[in-house]
Amino acid sequence: MIKVAKFGGSSVANAEQFKKVKKIAEADPSRKFIITSACGKESHEDHKVTDLLYLCHAHIKYGVSYDPLFDLIVDKYVRIKKELNLKADLEKEFDKIRNLIKHETSTDYLVSRGEYLTGICLAEYLGAKFVDAADVIAFHYDGSLDLERIRERVAACCSDAERVVIPGFYGAMPNGVIKVMSRGGSDITGAVIANAIDADIYENWTDVSGFMVADPRIIKNAIRIPHITYNELRGLSYMGANVLHDDAVFPVRVKNIPINVLNTNEPDNPGTIIMNDCAEIDSQFPPHAITGITGRKDYTVITVTKSHASAEVGFLCRLLKIFEDFNVSIESAPTTVDTFSIIVLSEFVSHCLYEIVGRIKKEIHPDDVKIEDHLALIGVVGRGMKALPGISGSILSEFGRNSVNIKVISQSCDELSIIVGVANRDFEKAIRCIYDKFIIEERKML
Ligand code: ASP
Repeated sequence: MIKVAKFGGSSVANAEQFKKVKKIAEADPSRKFIITSACGKESHEDHKVTDLLYLCHAHIKYGVSYDPLFDLIVDKYVRIKKELNLKADLEKEFDKIRNLIKHETSTDYLVSRGEYLTGICLAEYLGAKFVDAADVIAFHYDGSLDLERIRERVAACCSDAERVVIPGFYGAMPNGVIKVMSRGGSDITGAVIANAIDADIYENWTDVSGFMVADPRIIKNAIRIPHITYNELRGLSYMGANVLHDDAVFPVRVKNIPINVLNTNEPDNPGTIIMNDCAEIDSQFPPHAITGITGRKDYTVITVTKSHASAEVGFLCRLLKIFEDFNVSIESAPTTVDTFSIIVLSEFVSHCLYEIVGRIKKEIHPDDVKIEDHLALIGVVGRGMKALPGISGSILSEFGRNSVNIKVISQSCDELSIIVGVANRDFEKAIRCIYDKFIIEERKML
C-alpha cells in the first residue's frame, strides 16, 4: 500500500501544525509521499506566504521596497525553525532568493519559494528526503504536465528513500525554468505524483473534514458526505463547493485512484472519499437519494423569444456563438418552445451585456429579449436519484410549501443532478428546506 498525502497551507501554517503533520505521517508508514503547500494563515489577520510573495513581486515591479514584506516571510520560517529545532540553513536560502530577485527573477520563481522553503523544513522535521519539485514535476513548453517524464523522474529521485517530501504548486519547463500552476495548485502536484507512482490512495489533508452535504455557512452542523463519485463532485463543485482544485481530479481519476479529503486538525474523522464508482459500497449501504446540495447567487438570465425559432435550424447555435465571441461562459441554457434562456454569472457578463443584446437584436432578429438579474442557482446532486420516481416532484412541492418561487428548472438525462433557479433572496431558504426534507427527515426514518 502506498499513499500520497498532500498537506494544504493551513496544515503547515506554524510549528504546532507541523507537529500534527508529523503525527499523521508517522501513524501510517504507507504515507511515503508527502506533498506540501506553502505556509498558510495562522490566524484571520495573518497572510498566506504565497500571497506575500506575489505582493513582493508587485513591489519589485513598481520599484518599491519589498523588504518589510519579505521580512514577514523570513520571520515565519525562522520561528518554525526555532520552535522545531531544525538545522536547515534558511539564511542561505533567503540570501539566494534576495540575490536572484536583484537580477530580475520571474514571478513564478519567486512565488514558488513558499512551497520550496516549507518543503525543506518539513522534510527535515519528518526525517524524510527533500525532493525539489523542479526535479520531478515536468511541464511541456505549452504548459501542460509531462506525465511520462514525471513518472521517470519520480522513480529516479524517490526510490532510494522511505519517505519523501515534495513541494507542491511548481515544477520546471524542459529548459529548467520554474513554472507555477494556478492558485491552489499543490492539489495538482499531489494528484500527479499519485498518478506517477500508481498510489493506492491520494490523501488531501485540509482544515475541513471532507465535503458536507450543504454549505456549513447556511446549514449549521451539516452532515458529512462519506463517499462521492467524481461526477457528483463535479456537479457540486461547479457551483461553489470548492475544497479541491478542479485540475486535481483528472490525474487520479484516469488511474482509478480514490481521493480522501481529510482534516489535519481532526485526523480521526474519516472525511470524504471520492471515487470513480461507488457501486461496491452502494451495494452494502444503499446511497441516500441526495448526496449534496450546492448553489451560487448572482446569475443573469437573458431570455430570447422568437416565434418559430424552435423549428429554425441553427438558431440556438447562432445565439450561443454571440456569447462565445464575448468570451462569456454559459452556466445553463434551459429552453421551451420558441423561448431560449441563457444563464450566465452576472460578474462575467456585466461589462458586455448591452453589447451582447445589441448583437442578438441585429443578428437573430428576436421578437423580444428580456434580462433578469439576481437569480440564484441551486444544484441538487445524487447518484441515488437515478430512476427514483418522485424526487424532482418532491423538491418542487417542498419549494411550493415554503413559498419559494421557482424561476428555472433543468435536469440532464443522466439524472445525476437537478438545477433549480430561484431569486437570490430565497437562496438560503431553498437550500434549508431541501436539507430538512431530504437529509434530516430521510435519516430520521432509517
Ligand atoms: N501556495 C499556493 C497558493 O496559495 C498553492 C497551494 O497552496 O496549493 O495558491
